[in-house]
Amino acid sequence: MRKRIIVANWKMNMNISTASIYLNNLNKRTTIHRNLEVIIGPALTLLYPLSLEIDHRKFSLAAQNGYFKDQGAFTGEVSFAMLKGLVKYAIIGHSERRIYFNEDHQLIRDKVAAATRNEIIPILCIGENKSERVANDTKRVVADQLNSALYNLTSDEVAKMVIAYEPVWAISTFGGEIPKPSDIQKVIDYIRFQISELYGAKVASSTRVLYGGSVNSDSITAYLALDGCDGALVGGASLNYLEFSKIIEKGYLIDKLA
Ligand code: PEP
Repeated sequence: MRKRIIVANWKMNMNISTASIYLNNLNKRTTIHRNLEVIIGPALTLLYPLSLEIDHRKFSLAAQNGYFKDQGAFTGEVSFAMLKGLVKYAIIGHSERRIYFNEDHQLIRDKVAAATRNEIIPILCIGENKSERVANDTKRVVADQLNSALYNLTSDEVAKMVIAYEPVWAISTFGGEIPKPSDIQKVIDYIRFQISELYGAKVASSTRVLYGGSVNSDSITAYLALDGCDGALVGGASLNYLEFSKIIEKGYLIDKLA
């Protein structure tokens, strides 16, 4: 059975003291849960201090980025080899990195491969932008992003991965339009179909697929209720511990509703 996950993407927010206060408060409101993994994706500078502070039975850590070479003369970069042992996951291919930092298919593929060889599970973000959606091009875009990113991986590696379907137009920083859960269902089904075509049905039923885009404590339940949706990637709403704790709470409750 796939374990559900809720990921907080803090983006470039919080410092050591605000992060520590936040996690202290979140910790008080969070219980250990067998079927839900809560992943915190803070800025790079916070990973080490938070790794010493968090209750690892309740929370896992994700890096928001990493460099694909393991070491060398790459001033300012931090490699997945350096993150090994510090984080369990890494967010790769986020639309902000594709758009603001020109990350292309090749770079994302190299990052996915580098994370994987360093035993870090990629949370691969894929999704179409507004004009691609209007042009009815969603499936092609998602298939291209997926196929190119997974290119170097084995079936076992793909089975362990997390894919976050994040339509760019639904992300709060890029418009934050609220999609209909039925639209998300179609793409989640298509992602599993693609994985199945490439790696077989067994792998497709193991890979976790998330939704991300303006999720909050009111909207989360509808997305979690979708067939084959294993959780959510949460940006803006994860910055407030009260709101994020409500999202986690809904994640606990979904099994009881089923
Ligand atoms: C994100 O950045 O991955 C995201 C989903 O952001 P938001 O929830 O703010 O739309």
